[in-house]
Amino acid sequence: MQTQVSKSDAFIELEAKYGAHNYHPLPVVLKRGEGVYVWDVEGKKYFDFLSAYSAVNQGHCHPKIIKALTDQAQQLTLTSRAFYNDKLGLFEKYVTAYFGFDKVLPMNTGAEAVETAIKICRKWAYEKKGIAENNAQIIVCENNFHGRTTTVISFSNDEDARKNFGPYTPGFIKIPYDNLDALEKVLKDTPNVAGFLVEPIQGEAGVFTPSVDFIRKAQALCQKYGVLFIADEIQTGIARTGSLLAVCGHCSCTGHCEKQETYAQPDILILGKALSGGVYPVSAVLANNDIMEVIKPGQHGSTFGGNPLAAAVAIAALDVVRDEKLAQRARQQGEKFRKKINDYIKQSQVVKLVRGKGLLNAIVINDAPDGNTAWNICVALKENGLLAKPTHGNIIRFAPPLVMNDAQLDECIEIICKTLSQFETNHKQ
Ligand SMILES: *Cc1c(COP(=O)(O)O)cnc(C)c1O
Repeated sequence: MQTQVSKSDAFIELEAKYGAHNYHPLPVVLKRGEGVYVWDVEGKKYFDFLSAYSAVNQGHCHPKIIKALTDQAQQLTLTSRAFYNDKLGLFEKYVTAYFGFDKVLPMNTGAEAVETAIKICRKWAYEKKGIAENNAQIIVCENNFHGRTTTVISFSNDEDARKNFGPYTPGFIKIPYDNLDALEKVLKDTPNVAGFLVEPIQGEAGVFTPSVDFIRKAQALCQKYGVLFIADEIQTGIARTGSLLAVCGHCSCTGHCEKQETYAQPDILILGKALSGGVYPVSAVLANNDIMEVIKPGQHGSTFGGNPLAAAVAIAALDVVRDEKLAQRARQQGEKFRKKINDYIKQSQVVKLVRGKGLLNAIVINDAPDGNTAWNICVALKENGLLAKPTHGNIIRFAPPLVMNDAQLDECIEIICKTLSQFETNHKQ
């Protein structure tokens, strides 16, 4: 009998043969997406529990965002910043009001926005703080993930991300995450600190969630020592963790913060991913005038940054977050999710714990960091109709689109618990 190559296998082979092997995807080939669902080329339907690393918070192919994309695509897509266009200013006004900053600098990808923030921070340090040229230091955290450019991987401590990509960009000091003493010690003992770059929750590191007060107190320390507090909310921001921004902490408003006392307003805010609802690469750096004014014509830019298509898409994507109350939904669904998974964990040998905030969660599998149980669980989840991906070996991240309704979440929790139970040592066939 002749062995049939499935449609999926054929697409996987194409990528293996003609694409660089810089990813190790789960063996599923997707063709269509709508809301919380994606379909593979064989027509099988899945719940998407990755949401393209939280780029698709608004759900796949949200009709309002797609309409903004197609309408604008028929008008004007790119002018470069050599000329003005009739959408960028509207986006700038909208996004600055939305997040409460004076100004925005639009870019495309997350890593570019992080690079932009680093450049602004350094320039501010030399021109406003009076640090001697080429001496500025930026504090970062161990196990950070801020992207893949040469400067950004220079301050990573992930060997895969770093090794043989040197020489590395100097000017970064690494401290343990969630450690205020370590932060204060560096701020006190090191001259020339310009900023502190931090993720409010470390997503790639395995949804590592810091203590309740860490972000607010870190921000207060930065203020005390006169250094910029730079929040990378590319993954945590835009409703994912149950508030508009993760730095909004326990604020129960929609993120348009009435409750200022719980809000650690960053000096520089970095956004990407869900800023476009996953429809188009859009990233942004926000800051107030005294910081943003250090950038003058010719000193930074991007051919595509701030193009009218991106501007139209991002306005629609942020409209959806507000209109559909995605922050509140993420908060409520997340609480239910962790409660149900915790109930499961009580009698589990396979799962050690669940952690996270809103709908950015992860389970830690009872296996060595280089074990393959988490991968095998993700393959089994796929068979059972739910897509998730391990991060850092034995951790599985669960981050569905925020448009998930109650019945859908119940179904997902059932799939996850049923699949996990197949891996319990006392599992009966
Ligand atoms: C994804 C991510 C980035 C990088 O964004 P890209 O668009 O992949 O360049 C940076 N920081 C954080 C926290 C991220 O999650």
